[in-house]
Amino acid sequence: MIRKSLNSLAGKLIIAVGTLMTLGSIIFGFTFIRYEEKIMMNNLVSYASSTADLVKKGVSYDMLSGHREAIAQTIEIVGSGSEIRDIALFDKRGKIVFSSKKSEVGRTVGKDSSTCRICHKGDGKPLIAIPESKHWAIVTSPSGVKVMKLVMPIYNETACFSASCHYHPKEKRILGILETNFSTATVDTAIKQNRIGTFLFGGLFIIMISFCLCIILYKFVSRPVSLLDEGMHKLARGQLDHVIEIHSKDEMGLLANTFNTMAGDIKRYQDNMENWTKALEEEIQKKTSEIMKAHDQLINAEKLASLGRMAAGVAHELNSPLTGIVTFAHLMLKRMPPENRQDIEDLEVIIEQAERCSKIVKGLLGFSRKTSAEKAFVNINTLTENTIAMVRNQAKFHNIKFNLKFDDSVPEIPTDPNQLQQVFINLFINAADAMNERGQVTVATRLISDTTAGRKFVEIEFSDTGPGIPEELLGRVFEPFFTTKPVGKGTGLGLAVSYGIIKKHGGNIFVRSEIGKGASFFVRLPIEDNAAADS
Ligand code: ADP
Repeated sequence: MIRKSLNSLAGKLIIAVGTLMTLGSIIFGFTFIRYEEKIMMNNLVSYASSTADLVKKGVSYDMLSGHREAIAQTIEIVGSGSEIRDIALFDKRGKIVFSSKKSEVGRTVGKDSSTCRICHKGDGKPLIAIPESKHWAIVTSPSGVKVMKLVMPIYNETACFSASCHYHPKEKRILGILETNFSTATVDTAIKQNRIGTFLFGGLFIIMISFCLCIILYKFVSRPVSLLDEGMHKLARGQLDHVIEIHSKDEMGLLANTFNTMAGDIKRYQDNMENWTKALEEEIQKKTSEIMKAHDQLINAEKLASLGRMAAGVAHELNSPLTGIVTFAHLMLKRMPPENRQDIEDLEVIIEQAERCSKIVKGLLGFSRKTSAEKAFVNINTLTENTIAMVRNQAKFHNIKFNLKFDDSVPEIPTDPNQLQQVFINLFINAADAMNERGQVTVATRLISDTTAGRKFVEIEFSDTGPGIPEELLGRVFEPFFTTKPVGKGTGLGLAVSYGIIKKHGGNIFVRSEIGKGASFFVRLPIEDNAAADS
């Protein structure tokens, strides 16, 4: 956790800024302390100088008038001050003439003494004066007490060598030295307190600034960065609707804004892509089912075609013997004496059954397109109307209502009207049978463009209100001999023959049905004569 915090951007910034501030504060603290100490020392020096000067001026009159007692007394009084440890007056040879410490009077200090060393250097005799010496020094007495020693030369002024006592010759430059020792205890305490105060204040300042820095960096750097990081991870995991909630106007806010826009764009592109993929899949599915349907139709067409070829062969072979049977049965019937009732009836059955067979054979030939079409340009609407007029009078259609929805714009098309009527009649009979001869047949015509074939067709739709055709039988209704009607009623050739006729016209016939919703047969005929050649 700590390592993670230290490795973070905010952590590094805190360490960098904190270190710089600590260093800055330490340098500032030391400089400040040094400056303060210098000022305090200067103040002490200035105070000591004025005190020494005061003493010098205070005793000058007594010196000129030779009142030694008064001088000693003044030095003793001033030297008893709390800040002044002692005052001494030296003559030129280093002998203490007056001192606030009585015991010191008469003692001569050596040239190596701390007093002489303040203004002189070297070990020769005489000592060399230090030019522009500061006339004071901090010294530690043998007893360990720290004092500020200030020396003030007493120069030989006019009043001195012209005084009545004539004690000092005019040539002498310096008559003596006034040494004042000041206690540095007060200044030392102040410096100590100043140092402690500065360090405490500095430490507190660093802590407070660091705390503020932590809060600021957390709010403006660490938190936005972790929100951005979290957002990036969520984006990488695919959560494209995640929004980074940074509303500041700074770079972090801009970054979050850019991120949100980017995530939105990616989501939009992904949605588009998903939609495209879905649309593509749907289109592929649609095309696949169309191909499957076309494939099924092709297989069905192939199957019907081969069945047609087979049926044509069988029909052709059966046609001649059947004609023979019917012809010879008729001849026998003619020759049969009228009293042979039973033989006559049997022969009539033979003729009837043989003619039925002949009808089936003709149907098979029609299915296999072995009969030729006689084409003419026909209006499909008129042809349909005529066909309905033909069937309407038959008992089978008495309870059937015909509903016509004709498109008057359908053009005349080249067809064999007789063959087409055969197809239409067959569709009407099937509808009537399916509806138990009671219901409604809707016939609609329309012009359609088959884009896949690139041709135009006239479409005739025959819909009834019957029970419909089960899905599994839809593909079988055009097969020859497929019938669901009772024996003797259906041959299973009606739709097969119709299929053959429509194909021969270059058209198509197909059925759509839903159980319980009736059946719809669609006949499509090309408007141009490009029908399949007779074969
Ligand atoms: P058939 O009429 O002799 O049975 P078709 O080839 O005309 O022969 O018809 C084949 C079969 O198709 C019918 O037996 C019937 O099952 C079905 N069929 C045809 N038309 C319809 C329709 N409109 N409604 C329901 N089934 C139908």
